[in-house]
Amino acid sequence: MKQPEPGQMGLWGDEPFAEPESGSAWGAGSPAASGPGGAGRVPSGASGLTSPASLPPDDDADAPAGAAPSHRYPERQPGTLPHFRHPQAEREIRLSKAVVGYEVKRARRRSIGMVVGVDGLSVRAPRWVSWSDIETALRAKERWICTKLVEQRERAQRQMSARIDWREGASVPYLGDSLVVVLDPRIAGGQLHEVLPDAGLPGVPQRTLHLGLPHQATPEQIRDVAEAWLQREAMRVFSERVPVYASQLGVKVRKLSLSSARTRWGSASADGSIRLHWRLVHFSISIIDYVVAHELAHLREMNHSPAFWDVVRSIMPSFDAPREQLRHVAIPD
Ligand SMILES: [Zn+2]
Repeated sequence: MKQPEPGQMGLWGDEPFAEPESGSAWGAGSPAASGPGGAGRVPSGASGLTSPASLPPDDDADAPAGAAPSHRYPERQPGTLPHFRHPQAEREIRLSKAVVGYEVKRARRRSIGMVVGVDGLSVRAPRWVSWSDIETALRAKERWICTKLVEQRERAQRQMSARIDWREGASVPYLGDSLVVVLDPRIAGGQLHEVLPDAGLPGVPQRTLHLGLPHQATPEQIRDVAEAWLQREAMRVFSERVPVYASQLGVKVRKLSLSSARTRWGSASADGSIRLHWRLVHFSISIIDYVVAHELAHLREMNHSPAFWDVVRSIMPSFDAPREQLRHVAIPD
């Protein structure tokens, strides 16, 4: 077994590009309150039970079944697990491969059902079923749950990168605005050009991103040069915003790096390392600030307890709006 990593928390982007029909549902056929292992078996026809590459390797010793608390995590918890949170989550469970915040709907029904949709995991349960019964059912289905959650995130990520049509004249989202791609063989790399106000039409982007490429450049070449420029910009913007919130919180950031994790917007480690997804540079500063504030708040509270949200609120009183926006951000077509 690997040595546990230092405590780490991640912020997971909710599905930015919803496909309502893409949810996966599983209903337990057996009675819900039947104790460990009895709350439901994996249906033999269930698909995708292999472990996706973005989940940590099997390491069940870290999370003995039934040992996980619902909301708070002990400090010594190895914290490299992916985190998925339903927007209406009222409970959180630590499975062996992920921390999952889930919605619970009490319903007139006889068994526990589960749906993994664009928002995450939603559980339908009879009114008489206890929380521990629900947790038992979730543990029995954890491979299915984790696989479906990762599939949802990966689909969103693919859609995100596929949205930009990499050619001359393409529109690239940048800090909540759009830039128009111009191929410009005279320069190297990328350059942001401010177009004079009267040169534009209302509703037409005012700025261009000049890329040092010949006019016959391929879409892959254009994407590579543009993404390299966006990544440098991401680092520049993050390097400006992180110290602002770090000083308000009185925390020390020892290392700031870009991530391109397939499913998370940011993460914080107890050693003071912060990682932020470079694609945040597509979004408005208020969304970037929320992710920065969220991750830095983890340097004070390495969990998602009410105390953690109090820390976030102390530096960003109205974080609900950007947090909600982050759930619905979309790259313009
Ligand atoms: Zn977090």
